[in-house]
Parts: sequence; structure tokens; C-alpha cells
Amino acid sequence: MDNIEHVKTLIIGSGPAGYTAAVYAARADMKPLMIAGLQPGGQLTITTEVENYPGYPEGIQGPEMMEHFRKQAQRFGTDIRWSYVSSVDFSKKPYKVVMEEKITFTADTVIVATGASAKWLGLPSEERLNGFGVSACAVCDGYFFRKQDVAIVGGGDTAAEEASYLAKLCNKVYMIVRKDELRASKAMQHRVMNTPNIEMLFNTETLEILGEKSVDGVKVLNNKTKEERVLAVTGFFVAIGHQPNTQIFKGLLDMDEQGYIITVPGTSKTNIPGVFACGDAQDKVYRQAVTAAGTGCMAALDAERFLSSHGLH
Ligand code: NDP
Repeated sequence: MDNIEHVKTLIIGSGPAGYTAAVYAARADMKPLMIAGLQPGGQLTITTEVENYPGYPEGIQGPEMMEHFRKQAQRFGTDIRWSYVSSVDFSKKPYKVVMEEKITFTADTVIVATGASAKWLGLPSEERLNGFGVSACAVCDGYFFRKQDVAIVGGGDTAAEEASYLAKLCNKVYMIVRKDELRASKAMQHRVMNTPNIEMLFNTETLEILGEKSVDGVKVLNNKTKEERVLAVTGFFVAIGHQPNTQIFKGLLDMDEQGYIITVPGTSKTNIPGVFACGDAQDKVYRQAVTAAGTGCMAALDAERFLSSHGLH
């Protein structure tokens, strides 16, 4: 592969963190090149209304908001490549980032903003019916199941929040929880337990999602009583957590046991000098667009200081 380009600043990922890093880096004349990834715009492109991002008093659709982020980054000269990173080499400077096994970029500084993705149960029927009644985003797709019966799997805050959201739209919501207790905060537990049209199914495992072209039921097993049951639902929502998109950095960047990149507290610095991490790839606690954008700004400022202190800027 002899297709090599050198860039001053390389940003991997195009969610709120990556685009914010790009705006700051471009305005500081750090000449950022962004590799947008397989889901340009990130998780917000699969949501609908965003009402908690400051500056949008009427709310905004997630995909539209990400278009605004993109335009702002490009306005200051960010070079966006609509491709993905296949491998990286941080063993020596300048760092190498390979795009789609075709072009190798060498970069003085790298900002990792690869985000996170929803986890799935891993059932073949879940994959087959994904988008046809199976969804990992109640807020995106709940509307399609108005006045119908649906099920949601998971016992954390996300599942509880989404169950409450669905309960407002749907006729009935089954909440499938594998243990005999919820992991969600006490306040969220209280809310779901006290919502009349949410039925809790504890100690329950999903065996199969039924239906050919769309969901027409879910077969579940009670682990205690060993009783199988079919829930007559038309929608099946999965809310069992997220997985950071950090596999390509394994063994290179320090991570916790779940794969979240570890940064020096209060900074975006990773264990590799000149490689910075921001957004959901390094945040399992807040996971908000606005916090991702905030850490994207931090990464660009940290990267600028790094370039300056190494005589590269
Ligand atoms: P969590 O990891 O907190 O919870 C995941 C849930 O899914 C757990 O109940 C877990 O069960 C269950 N689960 C995992 N894998 C499976 C599986 N294969 N089959 C069935 N069930 C499974 O993820 P969340 O997305 O809910 O939350 C992530 C973080 O974000 C948390 O820190 C949470 O507090 C926070 N958050 C906060 C919110 C808020 O404050 N408003 C809103 C949303 C999230 P088990 O308990 O048995 O492991």
C-alpha cells in the first residue's frame, strides 16, 4: 500500500464529539481531516426529537442536528472522508491510520471519537426482524407502535426510561428483566413499577422473536418456574446497554474491562502522547450529546497544546 498522506490532525468519528473537535481544530488552523466512520453522524442519526441540546428551544430532529454539526465543521475547512478506519499504528510518530485498507494517513495528532453502539441479544430472529418490529431505540421507533402491545428487554436506566416512554404511546409494555431485580436507579424503578400499563417480567429470558416479515410475538422463559410463554406484541425493543466502538485500539490504548478508553481525569489524554479520546468511546456515565461535544472541544484544545509543545504547530 503506497498511498500515503500526511495530516496534522486526524479525527476518527463524526458524532457530536468528532464534529466539535473538528470545529475547534479547524478554527485553530490544525487542518483536521475527519474519517466519518460507518454511521456518519453517529447515534443521533437514529433518534428523532432532541429536546435537551442547549440552543434549540423548540427541539430538533437528531439527523438534522448532525447536519448542522457537519456544516459547521466544513465551514472552517475540515476535510471529511466518508469512509472508515481499518487499522491504526500508534507505536511510533507520526501515527498511522489506515482508511479502508486503501490509504494510510500519517498524523501528528489523532483524536478518537468513535462513539458507542447499542448491544443486541444475539438471537437470529432479532437480527432477521431488525427494522421490522425489532429496534434498539424506543425514542426513534416507538411512534410506529402507538396503541399496540410491545416488549422491552433490559433492567437498567435506559430500559426503564424507554419503557416509560413507550407506556405513554402504547397500549401495554412488557418489561423483560433477566434477574429478579432492576439495575435502574431507585427513581426509575419507582416510575416503571407504578405505571399501570407496564407489566414487569422478572427472571425472564427472551427465547425467540416470532413473525416472518414483522414481529407478531415474543417467546419468553421464566428461569425460576421454567414456564414458557408467548407475549402477543408487535414491537420488540432492546435496551441492554452499549458497546464502545474501540476494538481497533485494543492493545494500543488503555481501556477498562468494557472497552471504554481510559483518559487522564479532567483531560482527553490517553496513554499515548498525542492521541486523545472524547465522546462515548471514553464515557460510560453521561453519554449525552452535549457532554460528548464538550469532551470533543477538550480533545481539540489538548491536541493543539500537544502540537505547539512539539513544534508542530
Ligand atoms: P446498563 O448496563 O446499566 O444496564 C443494562 C441492563 O441490561 C441490565 O439490567 C442488564 O441486566 C441487562 N442486560 C445486559 N445484557 C443482557 C442480555 N444479554 N439479556 C438480557 N438483559 C441483559 O445499561 P443502560 O444502557 O441502561 O445504562 C448505561 C449507563 O447509563 C448506566 O450508568 C445508567 O445509569 C446510565 N443512564 C442514565 C440515565 C439517566 O440518568 N437518566 C438514562 C439512561 C442511562 P443485569 O442487571 O442482569 O446485568
